[in-house]
Amino acid sequence: MLIKGVVFRLEGELTHEVKSLFEDFRLAVNSAIRAGLQARITSRNALTRLAYKDFRAEHPRMYAQHLVSAFEVAGSVLKNHRRRVRKGKGNYVPYVRRLFMKAENQAYKLDRKSGVIDLPVRAGCHVELRLIVSQYHREYLDDTTLTLGSLTVLPNRVIVAFRKDAPKPFVPESALSLDTNERSLDGVFIEGDVAKAVKADFPEVAIIQQRHHDRRKRLQKKKAHDRRISRELCRREGTREHHRIDYRLHQVANSVLKFAEERRSAIVLEDLNGIRPKMSKELNRRLSMWPRRKLHQIIEYKAHWKGIPVVKVDPRNSSRTCPICGRIQYSRMGAEFVCECGWRLEGHINASMNLLQTAISKRMAGGLRFNPGAFQHDVMMILYNPVTGARSEPNGTSGIFGVT
Ligand SMILES: [Zn+2]
Repeated sequence: MLIKGVVFRLEGELTHEVKSLFEDFRLAVNSAIRAGLQARITSRNALTRLAYKDFRAEHPRMYAQHLVSAFEVAGSVLKNHRRRVRKGKGNYVPYVRRLFMKAENQAYKLDRKSGVIDLPVRAGCHVELRLIVSQYHREYLDDTTLTLGSLTVLPNRVIVAFRKDAPKPFVPESALSLDTNERSLDGVFIEGDVAKAVKADFPEVAIIQQRHHDRRKRLQKKKAHDRRISRELCRREGTREHHRIDYRLHQVANSVLKFAEERRSAIVLEDLNGIRPKMSKELNRRLSMWPRRKLHQIIEYKAHWKGIPVVKVDPRNSSRTCPICGRIQYSRMGAEFVCECGWRLEGHINASMNLLQTAISKRMAGGLRFNPGAFQHDVMMILYNPVTGARSEPNGTSGIFGVT
């Protein structure tokens, strides 16, 4: 089952009934957390058995279903807490400060045509939440293959979970193999006998990262006398950084997926798990790893949702192997990969060819075949252009492109 949370803004202000529901909900979550900690339990059912009766007695008017979902929230907070404790970092009682409430799908009604939510607050009291529905939202509301999951109400927005069974990935008719780098995805696209270079540039991601890294360093120095303030400012900086980078990564992922969907391509990616910076001398290097992992996460998730096959392969030696003769180069190389057999190619694209060959040799890309000799050296297809924020027409030698 796949779940996608879609964010909606609301028409008008929340009524005081909803606001007091937020407070009750937070109260229920936090008391369940304390009870769970004491009894050393984290599952929703155990928490419900433990705390339901007492809480019900204290708040006889709260809608029972909301109480159960408060226990669910408490359960997930406790699980995270337990994980932190195991790592030796959680010697405090977790406390939820945020005002919000979560309702399971049977505890609210959404009219998918009008976008109006009917939310029970307590016996005899329901509130209406009017969603602002855009074209983007319509796609989810009108798609009858999607069912409704939980509802999360926050002071300024609402998140509706849409669920569907994972579609079966299609049989690929082409393949898009991508080498993931700090500032770009570089790869090769094969369709029939033709192989072309592809590129999606996202230089701003590294720039934003560097800028935030520098700013964080400065903050730490400036506020060195107050660890608490320094930590808080850094945390805020970090959130902003994540938002800015996330936004761009989603755009890049969307262009890649649109391309793959239109051409029925399997997407080949390197398996980034296990890739760690070999030396700890540069913290910068560690900083630059997470956007790449995040980009993979986004691509994989969205591909899964659309039924686009994704293949992940071990990238070992992918940047050192010659796809023509199979020699492995152990000497350091510049931006270009050069082999004794005469093969030379931009290093990142060369790496993506090796990823593709690995995928094909392991029969992970359907019945596709790839002949590196058929690679068209003078064509570059642009998957994503950071200036227009969209895919541009393939450039390169148009004559050759026209032939295909
Ligand atoms: Zn070679």
